[in-house]
Amino acid sequence: MATPSSIVAGARRKLGAGPPRYSAAGLVRKGLSGDSWPRVWRDVELKSSYDVVIIGGGVHGLATAYYLATNHGITDVAVLDKAYLGSGGSGRNTAIVRSNYLTPEGVAFYDRSLTLYNTMATDLNLNVMFSERGHMTLAHTDGALRTMNWRAEVNKLQGIDSSVIDPTEVGKLAPSLDVSGDSRYPILGALYHPPGGTIRHDAVVWGYARGADHRGVEMHQKTEVLDILCEGGSGPDGKGPGGRVTGVRTSRGDISAPIVVNCTAGWASLISDMAGVKLPIHTRPLQAAVTEPVKVFLPTVVVSGSLHVYVSQTDRGELVFGASVDPFNNYNVGGSLEFTEELAGHVLELMPGISKMRLLRQWAGLCDMTPDYSPVMGDTDVDGFYVDVGWGTYGFKAGPVSGEAMAEAIATRAMPKIIAPFHISRFATGELVGEKGAAAVGH
Ligand SMILES: Cc1cc2nc3c(=O)[nH]c(=O)nc-3n(C[C@H](O)[C@H](O)[C@H](O)COP(=O)(O)OP(=O)(O)OC[C@H]3O[C@@H](n4cnc5c(N)ncnc54)[C@H](O)[C@@H]3O)c2cc1C
Repeated sequence: MATPSSIVAGARRKLGAGPPRYSAAGLVRKGLSGDSWPRVWRDVELKSSYDVVIIGGGVHGLATAYYLATNHGITDVAVLDKAYLGSGGSGRNTAIVRSNYLTPEGVAFYDRSLTLYNTMATDLNLNVMFSERGHMTLAHTDGALRTMNWRAEVNKLQGIDSSVIDPTEVGKLAPSLDVSGDSRYPILGALYHPPGGTIRHDAVVWGYARGADHRGVEMHQKTEVLDILCEGGSGPDGKGPGGRVTGVRTSRGDISAPIVVNCTAGWASLISDMAGVKLPIHTRPLQAAVTEPVKVFLPTVVVSGSLHVYVSQTDRGELVFGASVDPFNNYNVGGSLEFTEELAGHVLELMPGISKMRLLRQWAGLCDMTPDYSPVMGDTDVDGFYVDVGWGTYGFKAGPVSGEAMAEAIATRAMPKIIAPFHISRFATGELVGEKGAAAVGH
């Protein structure tokens, strides 16, 4: 039954006034009242047409929807996900953010994302637990040290706080690391990037979903896209170059839409094939693992390219480990014993002192790998069909800037400068944005 407070809440929602705000005491009262909590996003009927359909309810699809509504007033938007919001890489990643990439294009792009992450808690009115704890990439060989110096110089030229430090400084920042020089892979130095850190991935997904919902965007979970409807193209069923998109076929019926955006990461090539757009993308699983919680002892994120491992410690005390992608194409997200064994061996090379800690869980997600380790973003040869894919192992940190730029590309029908280098045409012109040196270890 409608109560005065539910009417006010409804009015706030219609006016786009944002989520209800509770004082500390109000929060406790609400918790004890037995009333149900308001839904974070609405559960509405799926319509038969929208101005924009976004496929994929991860951070990229949701951020694109949020910025379409917030920055451009485009609110007749549906985000479709075959499972639940955040069920892909967005809810499976190790939550590391940084901008110390290798190319000027990459650095500028990821730095804009960090700027947006910095104000996200206020913008979305949600504690996203951003922890700017610093990010350290170890060098174990002269070659690796050379790459770190190269990255540091590119970073500094772009105004990014990033420098090469020696083993003594590494030891001060992370005393648990073996910096003795006696190990099989001695630490010769590191690229240190103070603005890097971690942010809670689920909160980012929920925050964008809630923000988009309050501006009128619809989220439809358990709605699988089975085909993309096109006309006028050179391929079968009017798909392919020269055509235009007219909508999508879903497990819940057809939807017409002049604009369809592919934000499906690990499934990106399957979806693009449905529009007759070929992507140079392979899908590979990436595994991660977490230990039991212990007293916090690791204040910064530590990465080793040579050992294919990275580690950070959560506020609860668990160590979160990641590695490089599995060396074969697959859509399976099960974990493997080979991964655990290799991970343990490599981690103990770095931190012999944690040998007694127990691993609690391991998991995997799908990564859409491109040849140059940079994304594929913007419009395609099929009018109205946009892609925001090729996120490999590094797309979580790029969610905000990607959403902002994709929304602008769709609203203005022009490619924003910040994502122009990532257009699909680079694979024809050969102007690749080579980021392997800064993105090969998955995070
Ligand atoms: C273990 C692991 C660790 C990682 N660590 C980091 C890290 O520390 N930092 C970082 O920046 N990045 C990291 N990444 C990468 C990052 O998680 C991804 O690049 C990012 O989450 C991609 O987001 P997205 O929104 O593009 O796609 P996703 O979050 O994968 O969302 C795609 C969605 O599309 C939906 N979908 C697929 N097919 C269909 C269909 N036919 N119809 C409807 N919906 C469909 C899926 O259900 C899914 O929810 C990591 C990834 C993994 C797996």
